[in-house]
Amino acid sequence: MKICQEIDDWKAIKETLPKDKTLGVVMTMGALHSGHASLIKQSQKDNDYTLVSIFINPTQFNDKKDFDHYPNTWESDIQLLKSLNVDFVLSPHKEALYHDNYHYQINEKHFSHILCGRARPGHFDGVLTIVMKLLLISGATRAYFGEKDYQQYQLIKKMAEAFFVPTKIISCPTVREKTGLALSSRNLRLNNQAKEKAIRFAHIIQTHHCLTDAITQLEKENIQIDYLEEHNQRRYAAVFIDGIRLIDNFPISEIHMTQDKEPS
Ligand code: AMP
Repeated sequence: MKICQEIDDWKAIKETLPKDKTLGVVMTMGALHSGHASLIKQSQKDNDYTLVSIFINPTQFNDKKDFDHYPNTWESDIQLLKSLNVDFVLSPHKEALYHDNYHYQINEKHFSHILCGRARPGHFDGVLTIVMKLLLISGATRAYFGEKDYQQYQLIKKMAEAFFVPTKIISCPTVREKTGLALSSRNLRLNNQAKEKAIRFAHIIQTHHCLTDAITQLEKENIQIDYLEEHNQRRYAAVFIDGIRLIDNFPISEIHMTQDKEPS
């Protein structure tokens, strides 16, 4: 597995790859888990080579504390990527990616202003800008994004269409624990009690057909809601648990009614 920290090193490698072979790219901020691994496996199925980028993108954090506390697990990430037989890792320096001091940005004017965009001003500008940079640097045939961040996936797909980016944007299903909680790098920051609350969050939003009932139940269990909304047959949710922001979403057709046991 070749690890590049310099963009030029990656470009030199890219030049040596046969032109008739395909490349898949999976963009991550590290702290890798089985959700990331599922994207990598899909890329390996579809392509001759897979590139994984690791970059904790500062421009998408509207909250400096969130950025400062974002987990960094470089050693175990590299071990995981080696065990998955990833071909290339690209982990550039901030100064190289933002040599323009972020004077050039991608803005979307509609869908990026609701849901996560409302609570996190500038978040999607940062996301779309870094994704565009990494799409162009990677030169990949296909790029893989998780449905866990469905609003992000939709914005990236539409951006690629808007700018005629040749890379095909592909979505992969959300990977969850057996409890129903979506895997997330931020789960690493939850203590046992907060983890229990996070599991309740996932359970409540997946089992209450009525949005108002779900809101009432979350409030009853002292789970701070950022938003809980439905758009285009999909339910989107974000909450704060011990100050840690967790998001989730799924098609409304997947909401299942189960006997909702109150936590003891
Ligand atoms: P992140 O490192 O959190 O920026 O995520 C990198 C990519 O992994 C994004 O496309 C995410 O949507 C995707 N991802 C994160 N968590 C999951 C999950 N639980 N299931 C599937 N994809 C995920």
